[in-house]
Amino acid sequence: MKLISHPAFQTASGSPVVRLGQGTWHLGEQHARRTSEIAALQRGIALGLNLIDTAEMYGGGRSEALIGEAIRGTDRASLYLVSKVYPHNAGRANIFKSCEASLKRLGTDYLDLYLLHWRGNVPLAETAACMEELVSRGLIRHWGVSNLDTADMQELAAVPDGAHCVTDQILYHLASRGVEFDLLPWLESHQMTAMAYCPLAQYGDLERGLIGNRGLTAVARRHNASAAQILLAFTLLRDFVIPIPKSSSPEHTEDNAKALEIELTAGDVAELSRDYPAPTSKTWLDIV
Ligand code: NDP
Repeated sequence: MKLISHPAFQTASGSPVVRLGQGTWHLGEQHARRTSEIAALQRGIALGLNLIDTAEMYGGGRSEALIGEAIRGTDRASLYLVSKVYPHNAGRANIFKSCEASLKRLGTDYLDLYLLHWRGNVPLAETAACMEELVSRGLIRHWGVSNLDTADMQELAAVPDGAHCVTDQILYHLASRGVEFDLLPWLESHQMTAMAYCPLAQYGDLERGLIGNRGLTAVARRHNASAAQILLAFTLLRDFVIPIPKSSSPEHTEDNAKALEIELTAGDVAELSRDYPAPTSKTWLDIV
């Protein structure tokens, strides 16, 4: 099992977090899919996928409420719950109310990790100070950011307590590798993790032709694996990167969990890189 070695990525009961999380964007938005979505999350938990990622934005709070329903009956201390605050709520005026509302919807009294969803107008120093206050009040255990590029991370590291940030959640998949040039090396050298969102490129929606790509298909065949599993195995290559694929069915969740057992070879990576090469210069951070 691939585990995260970063000290901030332990559950409250002291168990390590598995390096494949469960994304939840759009979960909880359609009543007809509720049963399958809850079953998907519960299957993931049963398979050891103890990190669940959400945000106050997702479904206007309905994703958090769905997660709350899915985890009722599971020992809270065995899970690692991540939520995100809107940029316009990430200052002293609103962040405490926002965090408390997320906790209520999730049916818990603390978050393991709370992220600034993307950078807005609130100064990073104010957000960092509020995050520290949330930690000292016991409402969150750790904090981080999302969608910040290298220059923003450097700015954050320079504000008081900015270095307490433990992660940057960023778009990263085989067909969007720009972060390999400078952001991933920066995060690694500052002992932070990178949470890889859209690790499946929304199953090809973000990159036409990805799922049927020749190289991806050949590598998948060699490993007797699905295209999704190989895409996840690619993002798992660096041990400080945590992919968080979203699945709405237990079948997809099971398929994705098997990616933790796949070890890509240098030959596999070369074949995957033929059409999706590593960057050779700085590109701006991709976002959705
Ligand atoms: P993903 O790359 O995870 O792709 C999700 C899509 O892949 C869904 O259509 C899903 O279908 C499909 N899928 C999942 N598993 C399989 C499988 N094994 N075989 C075939 N299809 C599969 O996209 P997301 O945008 O959901 O990103 C992942 C998570 O990252 C989000 O849910 C969210 O938690 C986070 N995120 C964070 C952002 C940020 O700004 N910080 C921005 C975007 C995402 P189905 O649902 O039918 O199972």
